[in-house]
Amino acid sequence: MAGRRAVLKGVLAVSGTAAAGAGLVGAAPTTRRGAPYPTSVQMRWLGVSGWEIVIGGDRSILFDPYLSRMPYADAKGALNPSLPLRCDRTAVEALAAGHLRGAPELILVSHGHFDHLADVPQLLARPAWAKHRIRTVCDETAGHLLTAMGTPHTRLEDVIPVKGGEYLQFDGYTVEVFRSLHSQQADYGYFAPGSRTAPPRRPATLGDLVEGETLAYQVTVEGGPSILLMGASNFAERELSGIRPDIATIAMTSHSALHRYVERLLSATGNPPLLIPNHHDDMVTPLSKTPAALAATTPATAAEQLTAACAASSRVLNPQHLRAVDVTAALS
Ligand SMILES: [Zn+2]
Repeated sequence: MAGRRAVLKGVLAVSGTAAAGAGLVGAAPTTRRGAPYPTSVQMRWLGVSGWEIVIGGDRSILFDPYLSRMPYADAKGALNPSLPLRCDRTAVEALAAGHLRGAPELILVSHGHFDHLADVPQLLARPAWAKHRIRTVCDETAGHLLTAMGTPHTRLEDVIPVKGGEYLQFDGYTVEVFRSLHSQQADYGYFAPGSRTAPPRRPATLGDLVEGETLAYQVTVEGGPSILLMGASNFAERELSGIRPDIATIAMTSHSALHRYVERLLSATGNPPLLIPNHHDDMVTPLSKTPAALAATTPATAAEQLTAACAASSRVLNPQHLRAVDVTAALS
């Protein structure tokens, strides 16, 4: 498999505003099965594990769109589940209006935690998107949390509840859902575990948005690449074993409790040609800050770690907040 991918190993940084929209300016192309792709696909990093995937220039899918970037840590820097849920409605609206391509067809949710789900109700309620059908794909717990957060009824009717194992056909692309696992802290613990079988009272703290079941997704575009999307730094190896995404977004939060997280993931997925670290920013610096200020929140260690572990046929792209990368060009 690797022999068909005669490419260079290295970190590609989308540097400076000149690279905006073009993504891999000046980078040597990779060689990839299926490439060149007739259908263009762009990926815009929204911070944390959030992505906008734009298909053919005018259709889009959102994954874990979290834009509020609310405070989450106590004085020692540890996640504090008792902190108030403070969605930044002004920022969410400004970013959605100013940066997103338009109403998404789908919103894929990896799990119920605040940094993945908290802004979904506001996005679904945007008046600018009212005339468009938006389906939300999530597990039962996230569905109940969306109800508890006041998501409009019409949008709740368009929730597609999934458990992992589904392989869904949409017009022009498929979405495969995988049972996955949440990141574990260094002491093997989990942040805000739990599930809901009915809508709880309205969530008020970070910890009220419980994990539910963590899912991973593979979006495969007809005439375009397949993209693995992960919202947490762990996975069920036997669930992903044998998939062959062209692009893997890899959550790079703490994974010191896991045995060879990166190596096992790359092996199970067949050494995807394009690897993109995410969930490695500070989660709080506002997305309205300058690219340089935002870049300072994403340590290079995540990309370096992937580069050290990846096959010679893979390349690592360190994403910039809100910058669209033409991934079809990067793979061609
Ligand atoms: Zn989480």
